[in-house]
Amino acid sequence: MPIRVLDPQLVARIAAGEVVERPASVVKELVENSLDAGSSQISVEVRGGGVSLIRVMDNGSGIPSAEIELAFDRYATSKIGSVDDLESISSLGFRGEALPSIAAVAQVDIVTRAADESAGTYLSLQDGKVVNRESQGRSQGTTVTVKNLFRKVPARLKFLKSLATENSHMANVVSRYALAFPEVKFALFIDGRATLRTPGSGRLIDSIIEVYGLDVAQNMLEIEAERWEGRPAISSPQVTGMVGSPSISRSNRDYLSLFVNRRWTNSRLLAWAVEEAYHGLLMQGKHPVAIINISLSPGEVDVNIHPTKTEVKFHHEHAVFSAVQKAVRQALIKLMPVPKIEEVATAYGAPSVPGQGLPLSAEADSRLIPSSPVTAPTPAVTLPALRILGQLSSSYIIAEGPDGLYLIDQHAAHERILFEKIKDQRSRQAVEVQGLLEPVTFEVSPQQEAVLKSQCANLAEFGFSIEPFGERTFLVRAVPALLSGKDWAGMVRELLDSGGDKGDWREKIAISMACHSAVKAGQVLTDDEMRELVRQLEQIAIPHTCPHGRPTMIHLSLGQLRKEFGRS
Ligand code: ADP
Ligand code: MG
Repeated sequence: MPIRVLDPQLVARIAAGEVVERPASVVKELVENSLDAGSSQISVEVRGGGVSLIRVMDNGSGIPSAEIELAFDRYATSKIGSVDDLESISSLGFRGEALPSIAAVAQVDIVTRAADESAGTYLSLQDGKVVNRESQGRSQGTTVTVKNLFRKVPARLKFLKSLATENSHMANVVSRYALAFPEVKFALFIDGRATLRTPGSGRLIDSIIEVYGLDVAQNMLEIEAERWEGRPAISSPQVTGMVGSPSISRSNRDYLSLFVNRRWTNSRLLAWAVEEAYHGLLMQGKHPVAIINISLSPGEVDVNIHPTKTEVKFHHEHAVFSAVQKAVRQALIKLMPVPKIEEVATAYGAPSVPGQGLPLSAEADSRLIPSSPVTAPTPAVTLPALRILGQLSSSYIIAEGPDGLYLIDQHAAHERILFEKIKDQRSRQAVEVQGLLEPVTFEVSPQQEAVLKSQCANLAEFGFSIEPFGERTFLVRAVPALLSGKDWAGMVRELLDSGGDKGDWREKIAISMACHSAVKAGQVLTDDEMRELVRQLEQIAIPHTCPHGRPTMIHLSLGQLRKEFGRS
């Protein structure tokens, strides 16, 4: 075939593929336009997996009658005007590609009315061309209706997944923006059924309740705005939002929502920063629930990387990373409640007295009070001083605090204490070492040998003196004092079997040492031993979980006791 210039309709369709990958992309672009138009109400209706119909209705600025056709031209936008503007994008859209792209792969109707116009305008497009225009009544705002998506692009249609999958992608888009814009009232209807409604109250927690439910919302901790000493640096990123307590962690990353200047992004860097902040608080394979927005001056971030605008690049990556990590970590440490025993006695049919002794947070509005009483998380800065009452089942320490009863898992608590101690000693290069009277030979499998060779130096930092001694044999001259008399050989074997280059080895060694040297469940402790353990626990910054992320204690407050016993 000779070289020739493609026909414009074909060009438009090819280009549209970049922006409109699936029905959820249409929802995303239209919702972004509604948000850019300053809407306070956005309603999204979809049918047939978004292929039959997508309709987005808003009460925003509307498009002036004289400009509607232009809005459907490629690269036509009201949001930027010069190359310089690219440096300071504060709107979600700016490329002027969405409307023409959608019109290239679907049938589009629009009704819009700008503030100062007396009537609305209706425009209908087929194959990107206007086929009808008339005046129509409408209050201020815009409604875009997209029908028969990809009907003329069979390749795309074939690539779409089941209705349920496409519906979930579209719901995901609306949910994320509902979380990013709590002041906007969102509604989503899927095949006529209302699946999401947010109140538009401006409070993030209200959006979280609607998107994730009350159970998650009750376990969210607010990221406190950083208090500035002096004036904030212009370029300092501000981190706001809410993070879930480790108790509501999930097995995938879908519950992590990251926004940059309220643009939803899938930045790996930011996800990593958040997960780093949860380090040591989550069980393996678990991921946090978090909704985080990073505000920074538009010049500090480049969003013009890809037509879908979900990728971002930061000019000062490192500053953003550490701001996020620090803010999340602080929220977790400051506010992490000791897990509470909820409704212990319900199984015995104790009368429940709604609301009794359970202060609902001042913000909660009566509409949100569920039928069962909600326990507001008690901020526990550190552990209060505790009085030991006894030991249960040779495994749990029972203690009394200023507000009720604490049950402490002796093994988990001791693990946390030792883990902190081991890390601290290593970083100060002050590990206590126990030399062995006679060097001990240590035989390993070929796989273990490879790992051990590569980890000798790391192990040495923790007090293990291990050197090669012939084929698949090592000589151990010293071990950490903590492990003397314990099964250190078993510990090292376990560590070597845990995989070669996976994970942070220093962390793994510290966890493993803590686990092997901590008191076991089933071990009888004297009162003095329990007191000492609790005293050490009181001094730890994050006393509430063990290094594997399991809770070290549960708390039954006096309020809950009163409730359970039906007193008031
Ligand atoms: P972009 O959002 O990148 O500017 P679009 O193709 O999405 O490009 O939209 C083109 C223009 O149409 C926008 O710049 C805006 O002026 C106008 N527009 C689109 N949707 C709306 C809406 N819901 N309300 C008001 N104006 C809109
Ligand atoms: Mg747009």
